[in-house]
Amino acid sequence: MSALSVVMHDGVAVVTFDLPGEPVNKFSKAVVADFVDVFDRVERDAAVKGAVLISGKPDTFIAGADIDQFLEFRSAADATVESAEGHKLMSRLEAGRVPWVAAIHGACLGGGLEAALACAYRIAGDSPKTVLALPEVQLGLIPGAGGTQRLPRTVGLQAALDMILTGKNVRAKKALQTGLVDEMVHPNILREVAIRRARELGAGTLARRRERHAGVKGALLENNPVGRAVVFRQAREMTMKKSRGHYPALLAALEAVAAGYRGSAADGFATEARLFGEMAFTPVSRQLIFLFYATTSLKKDTGANGNAPLFAPPVPIDKIGILGTGFMGAGIAAVSAMQGVSVRFKDTKHAAVGKGIGAVRDVLRERLKKKQITKQQFADQVSLVSGTVEYTGFGNIPLLIEAVFEDLAVKHAVVKEAEAVLPPGAIFATNTSTIPIHRVAEASHDPSRVVGMHFFSPVHKMPLLEVIVTPRTAPDVVATTVAFGRKLGKTVIVVNDAPGFYVNRILAPYINEAGKLLDEGARIEAIDRAMLDYGFPVGPVTLLDEVGLDVAGKSGAIMASAFGDRLQPSATLGKVLAAGRLGRKGKKGFYLYDESGKKGGVDESVYAVTPAGSKRIEVSAAEIQERLSLAMVNEAVRCVEEGILRAPRDGDIGAVFGIGFPPFRGGPLRVVDTIGAAELVRRLEALNAKYPGRFVPAKLLREMAKTNATFYPRTGKPV
Ligand code: NAD
Repeated sequence: MSALSVVMHDGVAVVTFDLPGEPVNKFSKAVVADFVDVFDRVERDAAVKGAVLISGKPDTFIAGADIDQFLEFRSAADATVESAEGHKLMSRLEAGRVPWVAAIHGACLGGGLEAALACAYRIAGDSPKTVLALPEVQLGLIPGAGGTQRLPRTVGLQAALDMILTGKNVRAKKALQTGLVDEMVHPNILREVAIRRARELGAGTLARRRERHAGVKGALLENNPVGRAVVFRQAREMTMKKSRGHYPALLAALEAVAAGYRGSAADGFATEARLFGEMAFTPVSRQLIFLFYATTSLKKDTGANGNAPLFAPPVPIDKIGILGTGFMGAGIAAVSAMQGVSVRFKDTKHAAVGKGIGAVRDVLRERLKKKQITKQQFADQVSLVSGTVEYTGFGNIPLLIEAVFEDLAVKHAVVKEAEAVLPPGAIFATNTSTIPIHRVAEASHDPSRVVGMHFFSPVHKMPLLEVIVTPRTAPDVVATTVAFGRKLGKTVIVVNDAPGFYVNRILAPYINEAGKLLDEGARIEAIDRAMLDYGFPVGPVTLLDEVGLDVAGKSGAIMASAFGDRLQPSATLGKVLAAGRLGRKGKKGFYLYDESGKKGGVDESVYAVTPAGSKRIEVSAAEIQERLSLAMVNEAVRCVEEGILRAPRDGDIGAVFGIGFPPFRGGPLRVVDTIGAAELVRRLEALNAKYPGRFVPAKLLREMAKTNATFYPRTGKPV
């Protein structure tokens, strides 16, 4: 069955793309064949004067290429050939006898946007669903169907680089402003207007490609070779600074765009095809494509399958209660209100409730300022949050999330108070970061309704939610909290209850190792720089300052008591904390902070309170990276071994989305597969000989080493 259907409309062929059996339209070999067939027919039929490409899907124009086919490439040359095929197809759209109009409603991504760019005219549906982007770099690739050539010609160099190097979404209105589309209309009349424009183009009353410069700003600089050289140099510098050289596709994309300005059009396309091929075979793109598959598969996971004997459907949640209107409670309330969920907010004092509601407003106002929501939406969302110092209004709340002080006695008290007022079967979720969930559940008259919902701070920015289940948590409770987390826009992993759960568990040995290096006399900036170079977004010592040394100290002590020698915190952490340095919140930590809390350089005076005193030693970046990263990787393997994780996939996603583990490495368990279990055991043993007890290879790792096993299949779909 063809993905394309053609209806004639008074000299205009209206071609509807509607991929059978799929939620979205994507390009695959079969779809390309369908296009070739339609082009042949349209070109042959002299009665056709113009053509319209429109989607039959409600929310997507074309979502891009089918990523599965990237896995079939056997060599860079294969991928280059595929890209050249794409060029042929797009040039038929662009240069055939018949002018094409792209009628774009919904997601127009990657190959979809490249097809639209090859059309003579583009019209966007005025709807928040309409987004245009070239997201290839997010998969470690570059646009391969002409995007690096046609986009700069359409919107100008600077606007094109901005889109290609970030992969970011451009909305319809912005697309109109930059010239990415020629016209914007209400979705209801999109088809009709597109047909009219195709007819005008065919009749020659509308120019085939409007001569257009990029928005007037910036046009001057890039309209001459010297100006362009400046733009390219700045883009390259910024790219290197941001990516620290870890993402080769960014430089390849720059090179492909530059080639389009240097030589003939054919050279530009040939360079794009060659570099697309090369990028498709980088380890980086393999890891980023893995993360794409992993997140996609996670979205389909109800969370309940791991411990559900019976299917337990999630209950839709449109109102929640939150206990504790502090930092985390306010964050959770804000993201809930954003999704239209009404929030009953409770604290012990009116002042705290007022402060919490103020904090919710601040988060929402930020979205208003960025024009992500309208004034009306802002007002509606704010009005969804109401506060109390008693438990009034909790009688019909199906899900309660507590974010009170991190103190077991306080948690127990609120479990009891809440259960006295909540309706039967309500879920009690705790946002504790360190207390085992089964301990919180001890105070409940029905522990099957108790679950952990571990949000990360700041809640409106951090993408991960860890749902923590105890052996007694009911399957429908898990399914409901997972579905609710997803409704809030979070990536949700389900983990089993144990100290530190998953994310903080693997963070502990990593942070401890940074502390041990400080004990030995390593420089603060050397440690942070080494881990930034490894690919983390912030260094571990900066992270300690951010989290707060008191919080880190408490959680370190819990991990030490649970896991013994292996996870003993450094002496430095204790001493620096004892000296009254709390980190950023106290404006005194390992780094200097000014009055406004802005971070400066290392606070050299902190060394005086560390065990090494004023004596500094030089430790190489390679050694720092080896010690810190392998401590984390080994711990992640233990989490698989002990069943904390239900799948390696969740461990990798949790690390990337929860801690910012370098995406181009795929995650700690992908690192095991990259290095190989046997080699990893050897390296851990070498470290353990130097630092006894801290690097004993996980049992599972030794077993994997014996059989040369990996966490993920070596070929084909990774997840
Ligand atoms: P916070 O001190 O900012 O807020 C706690 C709030 O709870 C305060 O407003 C306090 O008045 C209120 N409270 C105390 N006892 C109460 C009671 N009996 N009933 C109602 N309200 C009560 O703390 P926070 O940083 O928001 O942390 C809250 C919880 O979230 C803790 O369990 C913490 O471990 C966890 N957590 C914190 C972070 C973080 O980065 N801050 C991250 C993940 C989880």
